[in-house]
Amino acid sequence: MALKPIARFHSVQLLGGEPLLHKNLPALMQITKRLRLDSATNIITNGHLLPKMRDEFWEALEYLQISIYPGFDETILELVESKRSIYGFDVGTTRFSHFYSQFKKTPDEGVESFRDCHWKKTCFTIHRGFAFLCSQSCFFPKAIMGLPAETDGLPLAGLTEEKLLAFLNRTEPFEACKICCANLMEPEPWREATSRKAWLEESKATV
Ligand code: SF4
Repeated sequence: MALKPIARFHSVQLLGGEPLLHKNLPALMQITKRLRLDSATNIITNGHLLPKMRDEFWEALEYLQISIYPGFDETILELVESKRSIYGFDVGTTRFSHFYSQFKKTPDEGVESFRDCHWKKTCFTIHRGFAFLCSQSCFFPKAIMGLPAETDGLPLAGLTEEKLLAFLNRTEPFEACKICCANLMEPEPWREATSRKAWLEESKATV
């Protein structure tokens, strides 16, 4: 609501983690549609839980983007096609054979990373009452750096056009830019973490 009077987006994307795990996803989709900050709301998912989604999800869907990783059950695409013919949403797929490393081998002050970063203009992120210029600055401080979640964020409470413009045009790097290699990501072989703890330890080991 705080953004409605002052901002418009090409698309609002509901993603995670994995958005299909959210119990109230259809309600969230209805909210973004009612707010209409965008021309289409996009769900980005790995697709594994699509067979379990109920009619209210398919009814609310405007655009479904499936990230296909090794081990994906290809019959899910047939299910999606049958649902698309009923409910009329659009579909996109991207296949991944590897990941890209997100973290610098040697952290620095983040000045060049921020200066050259294209994500800060293309991946505006909203999370728990704060706005972020990229998803990395939303999640890295708390998940990887042991900092408060809002470290790199702008509070949505009391947001004005002036505050938003100043945030969009900032020139100082974020805390997350110190460890983020968004501009120089290197491909890594695909592998699956067996637990959140294992993922976290592996992520920290690369920082
Ligand atoms: S945290 Fe990463 S993605 Fe975000 S602005 Fe800094 S370098 Fe770019």
